[in-house]
Amino acid sequence: MSIANPRLHIICGICGCNNELIYEIVGREVPGKHLNVHIRCRNCDSLTELREVMEAKIQYSKKENVK
Ligand SMILES: [Zn+2]
Repeated sequence: MSIANPRLHIICGICGCNNELIYEIVGREVPGKHLNVHIRCRNCDSLTELREVMEAKIQYSKKENVK
């Protein structure tokens, strides 16, 4: 069971900042390959691949033309 708005706290492991984080979806969609998600701290400009810190569960939408 998933909770809609969990209290997830993410902080930068370099500078401790928690309000300057953005995520970036990297790459382009290629069948059989997954896009990478990077978390960038805009305070210290560090970059972490999300897959370095947590397991991925890939789900593809069956809908086409998703906006
Ligand atoms: Zn930082």
